[in-house]
Amino acid sequence: MAELVQRYLDDLVAEYAGVSDGALADYIPELTQVDPSGFGLTLSSSDGFLYESGDARTEFTIQSISKPFTYALALDQVGEDAVDAKIGVEPSGEAFNEISVDDKTKTPKNPMINAGAIASVALVPAAGPDERFAKIRDFYSACASRPLEFDEDVYRSEKATGSRNRAIAYMLDSFGVLADDPDEVLDVYFRQCSLRVTSADLARMGATLARGGVNPQTGRRVTSTRVVQRTLSVMVTCGMYNAAGDWVSAVGMPAKSGVGGGIVAVLPGQLGIGVYSPLLDGRGNSVRGVLVCRSLSERLGLHFLTVGRESRSTIRAIHEPVERVRVYELHGDLMFAGAERVARIVDREADEFDVAIVDVTRIDTINDAARALLAGMSADLGAGGKRGFVVDPDRIVIRPDRGYDDVVFGTVDDAVVSAQRVLRANPIG
Ligand code: GLN
Repeated sequence: MAELVQRYLDDLVAEYAGVSDGALADYIPELTQVDPSGFGLTLSSSDGFLYESGDARTEFTIQSISKPFTYALALDQVGEDAVDAKIGVEPSGEAFNEISVDDKTKTPKNPMINAGAIASVALVPAAGPDERFAKIRDFYSACASRPLEFDEDVYRSEKATGSRNRAIAYMLDSFGVLADDPDEVLDVYFRQCSLRVTSADLARMGATLARGGVNPQTGRRVTSTRVVQRTLSVMVTCGMYNAAGDWVSAVGMPAKSGVGGGIVAVLPGQLGIGVYSPLLDGRGNSVRGVLVCRSLSERLGLHFLTVGRESRSTIRAIHEPVERVRVYELHGDLMFAGAERVARIVDREADEFDVAIVDVTRIDTINDAARALLAGMSADLGAGGKRGFVVDPDRIVIRPDRGYDDVVFGTVDDAVVSAQRVLRANPIG
């Protein structure tokens, strides 16, 4: 299996190796010094297994791929309200370095363009620029599972030529968006953009987001699922700048590109992808990076809006071990839609049984909405003169302290014995 996936990535890299369209970013002079042929692809599974192909260990500067991570750190440290007061979440359809703020709020339109990214830096609480940069670097490193190094040459080169970003920072300062000195904030922004990563690092960072803030390799939670949900949201709507619409249609994964040639893409719950190829299109996105992601998404069916079969495949089997006792075996992941369907089927068949036994032993994950529906279903059946039992050995549906102990069983057999007892005590019909 692993070899198949590996071969698949190798074939993909070979397929696009000959593409030489695009140009190196030249507004940061040092970036014109990199080897334009570099091409690396890494895919991390949600449990941290890496598939690497091509120049997957070539280092390059993270540039704008830093933006979602600093935004996440700001959300983590000061909370959504404080962040929302300074940075919007509306796609701007503008170039990454547009000198702009929202007409009404006078704050950056979103955290993925430079204006929003500079504002994110200023939101990370710290006593000074060095501490702020250390926090940022530590956070990225915790996502990547290794300490990231800093590229002094690229940093100096960007700092020496960064008039446009200086214009943005001073504009933000004039609107009261930056709580700190604009030059200091900008310096930290240039430093974060100059951290060196590989496509493997990006895949790991992506997998950490895919796992809702838990780095699958280290097992460490780096931030909350809520922070990740917000971060991925802005990556979907704004991560690829003025190509965001094309990207979502064709690739369908939250993603972020950088002018260093990297792209990180995330399939929530499933994968982190890192690509490196420094030749860029006119919007500042890696040409081969975009091509590879499009192919990966198409051929492996990774588009996040692919309509799944979750709600149809929730019920694995229905059987009646004794008369008027019906067992519903569930499996897979149970979310709202799947639980709603189970509740409706049980409801529709309620004339045909006196006791319904819902077996959740094979459920992998369940969310609160599904949990509440299943618990409510048991209560509803009780109110209608029937009984609803749940076979839930690990108590994933009904937690032990909820006072439902008489309807929760460890095995289907125990539930059936109890159902027979109920039927003998109160013959229904
Ligand atoms: N450091 C770069 C800049 O601010 C990052 C831009 C990018 O990667 N799109 O211009």
